[in-house]
This record gives sequence, C-alpha cells and structure tokens, in this order.
Amino acid sequence: MKTAIGVDLGGSHVTAAVVTDDGVIHSQHEHDIENRSFDAVIDLVVDVIEKAVYAAGSDVVGVGIGSPGNIDAASGTVLYSPNFGWTGAPLGERLRARFKQPVFIANDARCATLGEYTFGTGRESRDFVMLTLGTGIGGGIVADGKLILGNRWGAGEFGHHQIRATDGFVCGCGKIGCFEAQASGTGLIRHALAIAHSFPRSRLLDKSDIGSKKIRKAAQTGDLHALAAWKNFCADLATGLANVIACVNPDVIALGGGVSSAGDFLLDSVRARVDELTTMVPKGTTRLLCATLGNDAGQVGAATMVFHGKL
Ligand SMILES: [Zn+2]
Repeated sequence: MKTAIGVDLGGSHVTAAVVTDDGVIHSQHEHDIENRSFDAVIDLVVDVIEKAVYAAGSDVVGVGIGSPGNIDAASGTVLYSPNFGWTGAPLGERLRARFKQPVFIANDARCATLGEYTFGTGRESRDFVMLTLGTGIGGGIVADGKLILGNRWGAGEFGHHQIRATDGFVCGCGKIGCFEAQASGTGLIRHALAIAHSFPRSRLLDKSDIGSKKIRKAAQTGDLHALAAWKNFCADLATGLANVIACVNPDVIALGGGVSSAGDFLLDSVRARVDELTTMVPKGTTRLLCATLGNDAGQVGAATMVFHGKL
C-alpha cells in the first residue's frame, strides 16, 4: 500500500495528513496561521509536512497540497490568492527545494472534489460536481470520470457566477450577487442581517457569536427570523444549483462545508425549487447529496493527486 502526504492549506490553518492509497487518513498535523506573508506560511507548511513524513514511518511517495486561489497546477505557482493576498507566489518551487519526494499543488476546492469523487459521495458517479458551502463557495467538476481544470485552471469556480447581479450582496471579488455572496455560510448570515429590520424582537443577531451554524440551528427549531433568512438563502442556493445542472448536467452534486451539516433539512429545502428551475434535462436526474468526507476531503484529494501523478 502506498502512502502520501495530503495538505490542506486554508486561510486560518494548515493541516497535513498521512494518507494511504485506499483513502484512509492515519494521522493529521496542524498549525494555525496568523501571519499570512508568503515566507511565514511556507515555514508552517514545511513544518507540518515534515511532522507528517516523520509520523508516516514508512516511505512516502509524494506530497500533495491544496491551496486557495488560482493555481498553475503544472508549476505549482499561486497565480492569485485573495485569501492570502499573494500574486505569482512560487509555492511549488519553494517546496520542491525542501523535499526529495515529488510535490503536487492545486486549488483546494479541486483537491476536495477529487477526494470526494474518488472516496466519498462521488464513488459511483461519472459526472460529478462538488460545492463546498463555507466562508465562500469552492467547486470542482468531474466530467466522464476526469477532473476538469480549464484553460487557466479556473474550471469549477461556481462561487463567482452571478445569481443576483442587480440586488445581491457585494462579493469579495468585487461583483454583485455572486453565488458565494448569496449562498455560502457567510451568505446565510448576510440574509439574516438583511431582513433583521422585519424582526425587531428577534434575538438571533444579539450576541457577538453570530454565525451561520447558529442561524441554521435556529431555523431547524422554528425561529421565525432564522427561517425567513433560511428561505431566502435556499432560494439563492437553488438558483445556483439549477445553473450548475444547466452548465454541467452532472449525475451527482455533492454539497460540503459547514452548511451541509444540516443534511436533509438543507436538501429538502432546495430540491423542489431546483426541479422548478431545471428546464432542459429531465427534472430530478441530478441527485443532490451531502458530501461524506467532511473537512478531510481536501487532504484526501491532495494525496490522491500524488497517487495519480497529476490532478
Ligand atoms: Zn464573486
């Protein structure tokens, strides 16, 4: 059995996992990221990889890294990452100088898609889309069993297709009403804030710990303010999902990220509207499912990239 290191580099922490080629994680090693400068992050990434290689205790065939941003998967250069404020950062070059094993680098959402497709919800699928509903919305496409990368490594950036171009929230990318501005975990909070004036007695936004999880749980227990926000959120999510079906026509769309913890409550809230908006292919033929690998998908997918020798 082969062993690789799969690294998930996020805006607030980096995790390196020891993964065998059956998709099983044997140990995880993590650092919080406080300084997002390129040199500081490189030091942390090198350190977690070294710890993971040591913990593996056997030959490691390579290191795979998923990082946010637009990444040239051939050179491993981070062309643009708004999360870190990096442009043209030579992540691949710097890490290849530090490790004797082959190093592969790709966008984190594409790594998560590959992991979920290979070992999670996508295992019996050939045409698969993964959407991670977290702070933003990451995505990836598998068509006829192959992960699609696009001309400049941008295929699957569903988070930045506009679904409310005139009356939506401002997106981190500068556009109005992007899918991730409306239907990510952050989007759910913004929906709750946008209608707060209609619920003057609501306690939903009272405390400083306001988060999408709190709103989701309140909606599940029937809180009127949370339910109204949830309804608007799900309407926008359904619009984006129907657009994904129109563009890709997958047999499975897997929803991951914190919001997907709602499980059937989430899926049951969007299915009917997705069907209404699906016009050119038979309704209901794309199965909406919750992803099963959770936060591990990125690490497992990054290691899978090593086992494949490419994305
Ligand atoms: Zn955007």
